[in-house]
Amino acid sequence: MKQDTTVAIIGGGLSGLTLAWLLHQKNIRATVLEASGRLGGRIHTISGCDGTPMELGATWFCGQHSNLLTLLRDLQQEKFLQYSEGISLFQTKSFEPPQKFFVPASESPSYRVTGGTQKLTDALAQKLPDAVHLNTRVTAIRETNGQLLLETACGRVWAANQVAICIPPQLAAAAITFHPGLPEALQTVLATVQTWMAGAIKFTLEYPEPFWRKEGYSGMLYSHAGIISEMYDHTNFEENKFGFTGFLNGGAASYPPDIRKTLVLQQLNELLGANALSALSYFDKVWNDAFIHEGSPVFQRPHHNNGHPLLQESFMNEKLYFGGTETATAFPGYMEGAVIAAQQLAARLG
Ligand SMILES: Cc1cc2nc3c(=O)[nH]c(=O)nc-3n(C[C@H](O)[C@H](O)[C@H](O)COP(=O)(O)OP(=O)(O)OC[C@H]3O[C@@H](n4cnc5c(N)ncnc54)[C@H](O)[C@@H]3O)c2cc1C
Repeated sequence: MKQDTTVAIIGGGLSGLTLAWLLHQKNIRATVLEASGRLGGRIHTISGCDGTPMELGATWFCGQHSNLLTLLRDLQQEKFLQYSEGISLFQTKSFEPPQKFFVPASESPSYRVTGGTQKLTDALAQKLPDAVHLNTRVTAIRETNGQLLLETACGRVWAANQVAICIPPQLAAAAITFHPGLPEALQTVLATVQTWMAGAIKFTLEYPEPFWRKEGYSGMLYSHAGIISEMYDHTNFEENKFGFTGFLNGGAASYPPDIRKTLVLQQLNELLGANALSALSYFDKVWNDAFIHEGSPVFQRPHHNNGHPLLQESFMNEKLYFGGTETATAFPGYMEGAVIAAQQLAARLG
């Protein structure tokens, strides 16, 4: 069965969804094909046992992220300040007490989306009824008769006048076959575009009360000594649900989840006392599945070849375009980059 659309957007993350919404505002029929069973991609808010919105993916942004801020306003979503008051900890060695420091008030503080970052992609999805197809992994793009045919793992074929690939470029090169093949120079670049946060491990903890705040701690921790490498207070906007979120060190991926949880709680027990053991829930996510990278990814320095000039060009006779945060010429890798990339493509498509 073949279905038609004007613009096919591969990937239902922030960039693909924003692009679809911008095109719909220009009355251009755009269809989002998303490989997984959910929208949001690297934005992934879950609800803890106590209903606390907890971020397994993108969490923070700042005042410089003006395009993201405008999008939030347009979608009537609110933001709030990341909590950072009190004593923060820096653990350099496991056998020495942590250094204590205070984070000075910043001119460029970090914000979070009220209710969770996923509110943003949920709001976009609501603007796009019937335009989004889940569990639709694009495997091949074929140029034929002035159109592009998109083949999917589920067997459905889409025909589009233009296609925007809003997935990490390195993943696109590994997971999608192109007929005819892409220019060699582009293939070389695609394989080397670093995918922001691929391989990162984010964790969340939920607590019945903010015991650390009561003891004068900010909840902020940086460590070279334990499984947790970075951690922040994750209390909700209403300040009635409490917890932490942060990153585990890269080696933690080799442990099973229950061992990771045990090591996290052990580290916090040593640093913040036995209250840390009263967690209501622990979740973590290793960002290494087929929706962010495939096969043996080429590891590159952060943001390597992001926003590369070849990613700004069109291919297959002006029918094929690259989008997604790694193609942005400013703030690539971040949510701001995802929005910028969508805006730039929306101006060129249709
Ligand atoms: C752990 C973590 C923490 C982060 N923290 C922050 C932060 O604090 N602040 C910040 O600004 N940014 C942060 N980011 C980055 C931010 O999440 C990204 O910049 C942004 O979400 C990228 O959006 P995107 O649409 O470009 O790509 P993605 O979110 O990766 O979306 C791509 C979509 O394409 C789908 N897909 C993949 N292959 C196919 C295929 N073959 N066919 C169809 N669909 C496909 C995927 O399932 C996915 O839904 C973080 C990311 C992670 C992982």
